[in-house]
Amino acid sequence: QVVVDNVCKSFGSNTVLKNISLSVRHSEVVCIIGPSGSGKSTLLRCVNALIPIDSGTIKVAGIEVNDPKLDELALRRNVGMVFQSYNLFPHKTALENVMMAPIHVLKQDKAKVEALALSLLKRVRLSGKEHHYPGQLSGGQQQRVAIARSLAMSPQVMMFDEVTAALDPETVKEVLVTIRDLADEGMTCILVTHEMGFAREVADSIHFTDQGRIVESGHPKEFFSNPKDPRTQEFLRQVL
Ligand code: ATP
Ligand code: MG
Repeated sequence: QVVVDNVCKSFGSNTVLKNISLSVRHSEVVCIIGPSGSGKSTLLRCVNALIPIDSGTIKVAGIEVNDPKLDELALRRNVGMVFQSYNLFPHKTALENVMMAPIHVLKQDKAKVEALALSLLKRVRLSGKEHHYPGQLSGGQQQRVAIARSLAMSPQVMMFDEVTAALDPETVKEVLVTIRDLADEGMTCILVTHEMGFAREVADSIHFTDQGRIVESGHPKEFFSNPKDPRTQEFLRQVL
């Protein structure tokens, strides 16, 4: 469903992605872990066409991301992305935040969108909070509104970039539970995370990045218990 093939990306003289290749099958959960600055966020941004790549190809849900004639709307519909900062509209309720894109971008019928938004808020376990404003919600609750907002476009693939990094330890869990629910329902997920326990539990495969390269990939069990590359071993020693 997602195929990244031999992708390179530089910012000026700084080569951030070096011949990155990976693929994600339908319903698969792939975790990308690695040290700060190793190119994880850049990779997700390339997959979502937020930044252009220099060479290689990226295909998502049948869409060639680096095609000069890319249909950006089609890509946005198919790929949901959630960031560390949730960026909700502060003057809109949780429900209104979730409803915005389908109404304004997809021009869908308001009553239909409202029904969808209510069901999505339920799916992220926020029933009862529909009419709260972001300022009245905890960080974890706001992040789950942000996830529901992405789901409102009915994406084929969801990408999460360190979505729990800014949260209190107590609220991290509820966001991880939401992501696990999605994974259990068969959503294709790519997640960048520092939550090693979570990666080990939900991932079908792990990719470890260092200095713009994927230096090791594998099944989580094997990856965590028997890392092969010295850089992976060193990283895991520091974080586990
Ligand atoms: P972290 O774990 O800290 O989030 P990361 O693995 O996500 O790190 P990236 O954000 O992908 O790392 O950054 C990789 C490199 O690319 C860094 O050296 C960064 O300074 C550089 N970089 C990222 N975005 C840009 C940009 N828009 N312009 C110039 N350089 C950038
Ligand atoms: Mg990052």
